[in-house]
Amino acid sequence: MSQRVALVTGPNKGIGFEVARGIAKSGYVVLLGARNPTSGRKAANILTGEHLDVQFVELDVTRMETISAAARIEADFGKLDVLVDNAGIADPQDGRPSRADVNAIERVLRTNFLGAVAMAQAVLPLLRKSDAGRIVNVSSDLGSITRHGDPTWKYAHVKVLGYCAAKAALNMFTVQLAFELKDQGIAVNSVNPGFTATDLNAHRGQQTVAEGAAEIVRVALQEHGPSGKFLETGGELVW
Ligand code: NAP
Repeated sequence: MSQRVALVTGPNKGIGFEVARGIAKSGYVVLLGARNPTSGRKAANILTGEHLDVQFVELDVTRMETISAAARIEADFGKLDVLVDNAGIADPQDGRPSRADVNAIERVLRTNFLGAVAMAQAVLPLLRKSDAGRIVNVSSDLGSITRHGDPTWKYAHVKVLGYCAAKAALNMFTVQLAFELKDQGIAVNSVNPGFTATDLNAHRGQQTVAEGAAEIVRVALQEHGPSGKFLETGGELVW
């Protein structure tokens, strides 16, 4: 069997780091697409020290020139089996719909939505060369419009417009791309990691990063699995 290759964006810390580790532990070469060379190389060194096959690739999902460069590096392997669109931000100026700063909303959409779209489009030619290409979009239950419409939902009060809208838009990308690729053997799914203690939420999350990464890794490693789904540990979510 040829060497299997995955690319994870935002892998230098948090959930992305654990996802990279989990995929690499299954024998994949994992490309660590980090925007900061220092923290990207540091993460690569830690995982290499664990005898995992990883390589740092400079990648800022808001900068097309780095996306194109990363797509070329993957061409060294002749194909890509898995893309995990994990890079994401929260912005302190984002917030309730009545007062969220419009520039902050734009920044969040640029990274969390447009960054994932640009990344997937750039590597699609390489995913098509895999026997079982997969795209995992790291979404959030905060992107579920159905959940937001339920005032009794436990996170109903978390109305952070830019972040939630970016994840809802990412989910739309998942559904539409899954439909478009349904006859091409490429699965596209959204995964909600759950509320996980990371820098993104000042470590208020209740799960460990290993718990947050688990479903993402499972879906990333699943060949010929379902497509166009919104998944979390234990099952499917409403859009
Ligand atoms: P985190 O620890 O803050 O990690 C975010 C990662 O994204 C970092 O590696 C960061 O790199 C990277 N990143 C941000 N902007 C980037 C860009 N323009 N280009 C490349 N990389 C970029 O947060 P996390 O909680 O692990 O978040 C990972 C994903 O899970 C995000 O998509 C987030 O929305 C999602 N999520 C998290 C939770 C949660 O409770 N934590 C819940 C649901 C969904 P730098 O180190 O350079 O900033």
